[in-house]
Amino acid sequence: MDANTLFAIQLAVALLVAYFLAFWVAMLIWTFRDIRSRSHNIFTAFFAVLLVVIFSLPGLILYMLLRPRETIAEAYERTLEEESLLQEIEEQGACPKCKAKVGEDFLLCPNCRTRLKKICPGCGRSLHLKWGVCPYCAREFAPSSTVELTSRLG
Ligand SMILES: [Zn+2]
Ligand SMILES: [Zn+2]
Repeated sequence: MDANTLFAIQLAVALLVAYFLAFWVAMLIWTFRDIRSRSHNIFTAFFAVLLVVIFSLPGLILYMLLRPRETIAEAYERTLEEESLLQEIEEQGACPKCKAKVGEDFLLCPNCRTRLKKICPGCGRSLHLKWGVCPYCAREFAPSSTVELTSRLG
């Protein structure tokens, strides 16, 4: 084997090592970014990267199998969706306790007798329980005060 062949082999090996090193570092960076978008926990991120550091490609595959299914952004979006869905149900008029259908101006749930609305002492319209002011006649009263409701209902 002459010197040229040896040099060529050495070069090829060096390139191969460099290539795998770059690939490995890229995997580490990808894993780190990915876990950071899925978990706020710094230890989770540390172990995810460690997995790839030690096991390399199989570690990466293992990580992809075990990582949290949702990213933080996705989870946040889902929570928002669920909340707006809940709100919609509430607005569509379902009893918050027993989920029975209730009319928009019902004061009580006819099914479980949960208090749904109160009556404005000023103008007599039905208001949300948490409102502290009547939007119809601008009368102010203590929020969630049910005194007016009770007296009205007898
Ligand atoms: Zn109910
Ligand atoms: Zn009023």
